[in-house]
Amino acid sequence: MDNSAQIETDLRAEGVRVTRQRLAILHVLRMASDHPRAEDILTRAKVQDPSVSQATVYRTLAMLEKAGTVLKNEFDGAGARYELAGGAHHDHLIDLDTGEVIEFHSQKIERLQAEIAAELGYDIEWHRLELYGRRPKAR
Ligand SMILES: [Zn+2]
Repeated sequence: MDNSAQIETDLRAEGVRVTRQRLAILHVLRMASDHPRAEDILTRAKVQDPSVSQATVYRTLAMLEKAGTVLKNEFDGAGARYELAGGAHHDHLIDLDTGEVIEFHSQKIERLQAEIAAELGYDIEWHRLELYGRRPKAR
């Protein structure tokens, strides 16, 4: 079973009605690697299924977030950006000039965070790390 079929099964198990519109939105999320905004998801989902409306996108995203299927990232206060949950853990670097979101994973940072938490008497349940930057201008 591929990831989307698994998601569909999980949603049905939670009593979520899996409609054609919702499937179109899930498909868009599965294909996306750019952490799209709701508007982008709407545009792309309409290609799959022209009956998808803005209200459906917002309602579905809220529902999928609640079900833990989708992660909502509020990177810079410039609107939420979405990705499917359940992938390998990663952190984000946001390019302030282009809005591009770059995923990265650093064993060093993961270890360091665990060490800091341990020194403070905690086990980390989860974390979110965002770096905001610009490429230096060529000179
Ligand atoms: Zn990501």
